[in-house]
Amino acid sequence: MIRTRFAPSPTGFLHIGGARTALFSWAYAQRHNGQFILRIEDTDLERSTQQSVDSILEAMTWLGLGVDEGPFYQTLRMDRYKQVIDELLNKQLAYHCYCSKEELDQMREEQKAQGLKPKYDQRCLHNPVAKPGVAPVVRFKTPRGGSVVWQDLVKGRIEVSNAELDDLIIARSDGTPTYNFCVVVDDWDMQITHIIRGDDHVNNTPRQINILQALNADVPIYAHVPMILRDDGQKMSKRTDAVSVMQYKNMGILPQALLNYLARLCWGHGDDEIFSLEQFIQWFDMDNVSTSPARFDIKKLFWVNAQHIKQTANQDLERLVLEAWQNQDTDYSKTVLNKVAELTHIKLVDILEIVKPRADNINALAFECGYFYHKIEVNAEDATKYLTEDGLRILDQFAHSIAAVNNWELAEIKQLIKDFCKLYNLKMPELGMPLRLKLCGVKETPSFDAVIYTLGKSEVLQRLNCK
Ligand code: GLU
Repeated sequence: MIRTRFAPSPTGFLHIGGARTALFSWAYAQRHNGQFILRIEDTDLERSTQQSVDSILEAMTWLGLGVDEGPFYQTLRMDRYKQVIDELLNKQLAYHCYCSKEELDQMREEQKAQGLKPKYDQRCLHNPVAKPGVAPVVRFKTPRGGSVVWQDLVKGRIEVSNAELDDLIIARSDGTPTYNFCVVVDDWDMQITHIIRGDDHVNNTPRQINILQALNADVPIYAHVPMILRDDGQKMSKRTDAVSVMQYKNMGILPQALLNYLARLCWGHGDDEIFSLEQFIQWFDMDNVSTSPARFDIKKLFWVNAQHIKQTANQDLERLVLEAWQNQDTDYSKTVLNKVAELTHIKLVDILEIVKPRADNINALAFECGYFYHKIEVNAEDATKYLTEDGLRILDQFAHSIAAVNNWELAEIKQLIKDFCKLYNLKMPELGMPLRLKLCGVKETPSFDAVIYTLGKSEVLQRLNCK
């Protein structure tokens, strides 16, 4: 059975690149009826925080990337790491090293002076001298000669000569295991078959494969996916870019849109731009993952989001819009929420039907729905320009026409508007501008026949002050 994992270090929130890696690992498991495991790599006690763990879990839930097993926490597996370290020491596949920092520095300087690549010279392997009072580190005995080769599912064949690799420290002098070692033991114990991760980990892979082989463990298949950069090709930065997944939620991005965008950013299926998660699972393969770094384009993300908003059922959008108002917690949003409860004849699902082609995020959608319940205060400039004496006279006459409508149908209202403009020799905007401002408080709304129809007769007349 195919088993993949996502293994974030909880040293910050879940970022865009992490979400992409999680998505690919999750989708690969789904695609092959496999299992997806979540592992929290929290051994770096200084940088790991519970807050980061919580925010990663929150983001995974929001994205809808459910796990089959986990989360597992490395800090809860210390005994197991220790056991494997002892096993390697017993089998002489690892050894104690007593070298002090000064000794190692000197070794490095001498090697550099001789034009050699600095590397531990294995003096404690060949000539172990326990130093009283010095707690040793444990080093892994990297095979001499030969090389590590793997067929990366994204990057193709990769070969690294063992001569390039140091005898890496797998346990510090206080006994705590190091990063690469924990990853290996976990991937082994958790029977991970496919490791899909960012290509910033390519350098770790030969080290990890050597340890796996020393443990007689099956070596998983690796797929190193390229980094996601800013649109100017620079690395994304926490300070200047929205890198946290949850920031996108706050911007009104739908999780399915973010996943669609991230999938498409690093992978392709012909010309398909907009797809559901179900489609993605069916189509996803490693052959079509791009090999070069991707560039994050926020405008494109909003475009993808707009397409998903259009495809989302009005009932689901209703829930999101209500949630957006609740989260805004402003006087305006509170009033809107009260009016939603009060004006029961104005159905949010009906409003959504007409406003959803206009919004590229949920906050904008909430804005567009809001003025149906409570008109926005007209700004002074628009008032002076459009709510002139002439404008108001037109609206007054229009209100009389509206008052006379018996059959409240969209077609009827459309016809009335046409007849009204003809009768008073008006161009559409001459009626439309003051009308929109008076009804909604803004100049841009969906077509005003639909707005009038949705608001209902009494609400229209009340807003036109001519009940
Ligand atoms: N904990 C590592 C990270 O957050 C991932 C390790 C791995 O996928 O092997 O970058």
